[in-house]
Amino acid sequence: MSSYLWQKTKTVGKIILASSMLYFGTGCTSTTLLKTYEKESPLVVHFLNVGNADSHLIETPNNKLILIDGGKERHGKRISKYIATLGYEKIDYVIASHPHYDHVGGLDVIMKKIEVDNVIDNGLKFKTKAYKEYIKYAKQQNLISISKDTTINVDPELEIRLMVAYDNNEGLNELTNDNSILVRLDYKDASFLFTGDLETEGERDLLNDDENLDVDVLKIGHHGNRTSTSQEFLDAISPKIVIIPTNKAKRTSSPHKVVLDRLINIETYRTDIDGDIIISTDGINYNITTKNSLIDKTNSMLIELKHKL
Ligand SMILES: [Zn+2]
Repeated sequence: MSSYLWQKTKTVGKIILASSMLYFGTGCTSTTLLKTYEKESPLVVHFLNVGNADSHLIETPNNKLILIDGGKERHGKRISKYIATLGYEKIDYVIASHPHYDHVGGLDVIMKKIEVDNVIDNGLKFKTKAYKEYIKYAKQQNLISISKDTTINVDPELEIRLMVAYDNNEGLNELTNDNSILVRLDYKDASFLFTGDLETEGERDLLNDDENLDVDVLKIGHHGNRTSTSQEFLDAISPKIVIIPTNKAKRTSSPHKVVLDRLINIETYRTDIDGDIIISTDGINYNITTKNSLIDKTNSMLIELKHKL
């Protein structure tokens, strides 16, 4: 992989101003926010802070919207609001990585509120209430269940590859997490990989398949649990930026120290520490904005202001 450049954005720019209004503009109506939000980079990926759960939004160069996972039931409302604030009235693709509660729990709430064109899942049926609610609404959309690797054409400027670690033609892997749909995004020289809750057995399957997994930005598997992110898998990906969606309360088990130790030389962001994480790219540079860096910025601005008064 060539040496890409990226910048960590900690200063106030247009997108950050818009985002800060999103967080701090309690007096603003959503219409005001829609007018102020301006997407400045062709590709923007939002890693939402939904605790020990996953929800990621992808704004494509031609302003299509993809949602990977919908957090737990209680996150559905917040994710819907976030999407509305970005100015989208529909989601082009919802991708449910696998049917666990912390990935599909909020999707029915979102699908009730926002028009969805397509839903993609791995076809794995589950007995939980969360899954039943999810599938009830997923079936009302164009539901596509995939059992092998595929691509989706949502935007001609973006390559989107969906990978199924375990070849489901041989039957589903008995470990639900290892059936997670992985999503790889490529835009010019920029690349992202979302791994759902894939664990080491699924990682091994992928490595055996000789997939090209080398990307810049990795959304780590299974919330940083020690059952995922083996050294071999990490070596194959060689990420420059890692995102861990996790929860403060779970800090002792996920992310696990073993995994954090493997990430020691990689720029790592965690939703429990950084809040929502937004990565924008023009296909060469990455700008990273976190909710908590905005709070820090706002706090320091307030202190400065106080000194002046
Ligand atoms: Zn999970």
